[in-house]
This record gives sequence, C-alpha cells and structure tokens, in this order.
Amino acid sequence: MSILVVGSVAYDTVETPFGKAERVLGGSASFFSVAASFFVPVNLVAVVGNDFGEKELAAFKDRPIDLSGLERAEGKTFHWSGKYSYDLNSRDTIFTDLNVFESFRPKIPAAFKKSEYVFLGNIDPALQRDVLDQVEKPKVVACDTMNFWISGRLEELKKTLARVDVLLINDSEARELSGEWNIVKAARAIRAMGPRALVIKKGEHGVLMFTTHGAFAAPAYPLEDVFDPTGAGDTFAGGFMGYLAGRGGEGDGALRRAIIMGSTLASFAVEAFSLDRLLRLTREEIEQRFQLFRQLTHFEAL
Ligand code: AMP
Repeated sequence: MSILVVGSVAYDTVETPFGKAERVLGGSASFFSVAASFFVPVNLVAVVGNDFGEKELAAFKDRPIDLSGLERAEGKTFHWSGKYSYDLNSRDTIFTDLNVFESFRPKIPAAFKKSEYVFLGNIDPALQRDVLDQVEKPKVVACDTMNFWISGRLEELKKTLARVDVLLINDSEARELSGEWNIVKAARAIRAMGPRALVIKKGEHGVLMFTTHGAFAAPAYPLEDVFDPTGAGDTFAGGFMGYLAGRGGEGDGALRRAIIMGSTLASFAVEAFSLDRLLRLTREEIEQRFQLFRQLTHFEAL
C-alpha cells in the first residue's frame, strides 16, 4: 500500500501570540507526508524553487517518503505568511507568494501511478482532476479545498468532487459549498455531489464525519500547550489516510478509527512551529495518545 499526495511544499512565516517563525518548512504536502509516513510509504508530488535548502529536505529523509516527484523549478519556493488571533481560532493571511507554485502542473511519475490511496491537497480543482486522470484506479481518493476555490471555481470543483471518496473541509467551507447554514443539511448536500464520506474540521472543537451510517463526532485532544495551528488540517489528513491505508480495512469502523488517528497526529502538530513536533514524534507517543482518546469520550449509560 502506498499513498500519493499532491500539494504544496512551502516556506511559511507564521506569527502566533507565542512567537514568530520565519521561512520555516510548511505546505500541505509536507505536513501530510510526514504524518502519513508513520503508517505507509508516501509518494510526494510537489514543486520547490532553487532556494529550497538541504535543511528543509532533511525533514523527509530517513522516512518512507519518495521524493522522485518533487520537482525543482527555476525561481523561488512558494512562501505563505499568516498571523493568528489571540485565541488561535482565526488567522489572517499576510501574504501568499505563489512563486514556482503558480505554474505548477503536477506530473505523476510512472512508479506512482499505481498508488492505491490518493490525497489531493488544496490546489486548483482542475489540477486535482488532472492528477486523477494520471493515476490508475485508486481505492480511496481524498481531497481538501478552500473558500478561494469554492467561490472562484465552483463548477470545476463540483466536477472534481464527483470523483472523490472523502472530502475534508472546515465548517465555514461546508456551509459555503452547500449554501446551507445547518451543518447536517450541508453534509447531505455535499455528499450528493460525490464524496461518500464528508469530514468537517472544526479546529479546537474537533471533527464531524458524515457517511451512509450517519454522523461520528471526535473531540480535539485537550492540550495545555498549543503553539501553532498551521498544518493541523493537513496533518489530520495524513494521519487519517495513513491509518486507512496501513491498518484500516474497509467500512465505517475503519473510518472512525482513522478519524481518531487523524486527530491524534494533528494534536502533536500544533504543539510546536512548523513540522518540529512531528519530526520528533515516536510511534509509542502516537499509540499512547490514540488510546487516551478512548478515555476522553468513554462513558457508561446507566
Ligand atoms: P492548514 O493550516 O491546514 O490550512 O495548512 C497550512 C499550510 O498550507 C501552510 O503550511 C501553507 O504553506 C499552506 N498554504 C497556505 N495557503 C496555500 C495555498 N493557497 N495553496 C497551497 N498551500 C497553501
């Protein structure tokens, strides 16, 4: 089993109430790959510029992450900057310098075309479909998107969603995509567009999943120290897909466990800037926290 991920590998400049990190490793594909690599080999497709250094590349080394699809283009690496509010629940984008990402046309290496699990990071929905055209019959296709594409490229996005099994978005995106304020109605409308599972991320309030079996809710792990929420969603997706591909099996039970594994990985990502915490993470820590999630929600009905 292997997972193909297509998305951004970036420099991030992030300010939170607890400090600032300048030009550190970020990007949706970076967070996703490192999280998923705890479970299965990952085939990464992205682009960086000629300023992308050995220090950043080292994050992917010594892990089962195949970098043969990491294109190096003439120019600068994508650079995103964001600033978080005091409660970390909202953030403003300070700038988005697309740089080499602007003309990114994902080329899937021949060896990656048989990947059984595919994660389409948050890129132009037409490019997401282009990726699907280049792969052979994947078992599970998951996809992320954002308001920018929902408001600007809705018809393209709908064509992509028709070919997606799992959509991961946040609650405001779900409302905008469906035109429904109520989240249950929004989920029904979005699932009618294609995805059999819809995962709605609500930051520190956890995750809601809708499938044919109904809804499943998972809290976010209550942490004392949250440093930087950047990448939490992509790390969630990496843990979720990694678990499904590596240990999951089929069915609603597997999806539910994958939701908890995604929440587990995301809870570590936010404990430090950039990928710092994920890069020091051990399998034992992952297993321990996964088990703690059971205690968090367990109760006896008398
Ligand atoms: P998240 O916090 O899960 O929304 O993901 C944040 C990551 O997404 C950061 O590391 C950014 O580098 C990356 N990012 C931000 N804006 C974009 C964009 N327009 N396209 C692709 N990646 C982006």
